[in-house]
Amino acid sequence: MSNLMSSSPTTDAIMQVKQSLLTNAKRAYEIRLQTGNGGNLSGRIPGTDLIIIKASGCSFDKCRADNLITVTLDGEQVDGDGLPSQELATHLAIYKQRPDAQGIFHSHSPWAIAYANFNDTIPTVTLHAKSKLGRIPVLRLSGETTQANLPVIKALLTADRNLCVFVQDRHGIFSFASSIELARYNAELVEETAQIAWSMALVERVASNRKRDA
Ligand SMILES: [Zn+2]
Repeated sequence: MSNLMSSSPTTDAIMQVKQSLLTNAKRAYEIRLQTGNGGNLSGRIPGTDLIIIKASGCSFDKCRADNLITVTLDGEQVDGDGLPSQELATHLAIYKQRPDAQGIFHSHSPWAIAYANFNDTIPTVTLHAKSKLGRIPVLRLSGETTQANLPVIKALLTADRNLCVFVQDRHGIFSFASSIELARYNAELVEETAQIAWSMALVERVASNRKRDA
């Protein structure tokens, strides 16, 4: 474990991360980026190797400070009731590969999942998406467990140190950034970009059919 653990976080630092998680969870639910009780989000307590993550089974709209669990980078639970999100291992793998990541946002957003099912990448069709995200690769995992799939996620992050998002096939968006808010903004942008890409592909198909039938 890193020596960062030797510096205990202040109460203020813990509360700031928790408040940011709750604010961004609420926003994501309100705009239907994540419905039901799926999805999860986490934040690193600055200057430490401690991660605060949403508890398993708690929906974004019902998430309270009591539903946030603190763990070490090795997955040891140090605070909070209940169990951490089932996707904790993926979050920890990303934090370990990307020391610059302070927040991770994950949602089961429909446009991105649908587009990813048929394509190896979601094209950054707008100038905004191109400049903010660079690229949006689709990750296809064959392992039956999260643990079995971690090497593929690590390889993706090692190959591209600038990557800030990916979409896991038939699962959802993973976004990681210098803040939880930015990670959520980028996830919103992935979903919006997938919707635009779908619409553009549909319009193109209609135009092509009209030309063929003329
Ligand atoms: Zn998920």
